[in-house]
Amino acid sequence: MTPGNTGLARFLLPWRCALCAGRARDGRELCDECDAGLPRAEQACPRCGIRMARTDVTGVCGRCAVRPPDFYRMVAPLAYDYPVDRLLLGLKFGRRMHLARALGQAIAEGVRSQVEQGVLEMPEALAPVPLHPRRLAKRGFNQAEEIARLIAREIGVPMLPDICRRVRHTRMQSRLSDEERRLNVAGAFACAQSPLRPAIVDDVVTTGATVDAMAAALIAAGAERVQVWAAARAG
Ligand SMILES: [Zn+2]
Ligand SMILES: [Zn+2]
Repeated sequence: MTPGNTGLARFLLPWRCALCAGRARDGRELCDECDAGLPRAEQACPRCGIRMARTDVTGVCGRCAVRPPDFYRMVAPLAYDYPVDRLLLGLKFGRRMHLARALGQAIAEGVRSQVEQGVLEMPEALAPVPLHPRRLAKRGFNQAEEIARLIAREIGVPMLPDICRRVRHTRMQSRLSDEERRLNVAGAFACAQSPLRPAIVDDVVTTGATVDAMAAALIAAGAERVQVWAAARAG
């Protein structure tokens, strides 16, 4: 037995919860209590993922009833509240890569349960939202790709990390208005030949402008039905 053998150490040492450092079941990033305590997104519009008071007759929010996005369904199982916001920031800016696992597992579970209920079809491939090469060089990794890799492994659907490229360097979206965000990302993506039914994967969706621009680019590249998967929908 060599203590330096990480495979063996992983086998001998109990898994630790990423939030409370308590004991987690093998292969899980969160312990059962922290996992059960994550705030879930209840009553979301199935099309765009925003919180709704309740489902009206059309089944979608008022905005989607008037001007639906290019993607036809969003799966964002968690609410953007504590500690989900902390997990997302920890991955993106704290380089805590193992958090991609916790977030990917939450998304994979949300997807599985919707597929079992018969309200969601499995996509043919996962397309993580790409970063512009300049931002990728600065950050060193793409958080959407880290999450998508995890989901791909969990549900057995291939990930196509290079299917879309960011062809324009866009400003950080956080300080822009809805309309400015839409203009900021319009034409920002170029995609190679797309499968008919891809699912875009991002860490968190805010206004949906970025994933909508990418969905439009995938449709231009041959996709017919585009889904969007994220850990949470903010706002
Ligand atoms: Zn815990
Ligand atoms: Zn909606």
